Amino acid sequence: MGAVIRQATLDAVTAAASAAYPEECCGLLIGAKEGDRWRIDEAVAAANVAPRPRHDHFEIDPALHLRLQRELRGTAQAVIGHYHSHPNGRAAPSRADMAQAEDPSRLWLIAAVAGDAVKVAAFRLTGGAFIKVDLNVGES
Ligand SMILES: [Zn+2]
Repeated sequence: MGAVIRQATLDAVTAAASAAYPEECCGLLIGAKEGDRWRIDEAVAAANVAPRPRHDHFEIDPALHLRLQRELRGTAQAVIGHYHSHPNGRAAPSRADMAQAEDPSRLWLIAAVAGDAVKVAAFRLTGGAFIKVDLNVGES
């Protein structure tokens, strides 16, 4: 199990995480699941519609999710997962993430923001637990 992400897409996630600080940013990941590998093409920023304060949780605007699913229907791409940030946190799922982890087909990208440094890691759900996914930068 692994995931490959374009450099520009990784940069977009990193920039969004820094810009939203000290709140969590969030967005959806567009790409494809190819066998046991995720290919992340694009990261689409979403409004974090969680109630304030939003420094330790996020909720992706459901209208964006529906719109993207509609737009991608019939194409080779799909919404394959989402990203969010952890201001002053770790690049690992939090207790709040466990509480809203439902769909095992989703890829989770978590961007930990500490000062100017942003560290991004990928996870998937299996048997009700998060497992780290190898994340590599590359084209397709
Ligand atoms: Zn989280």
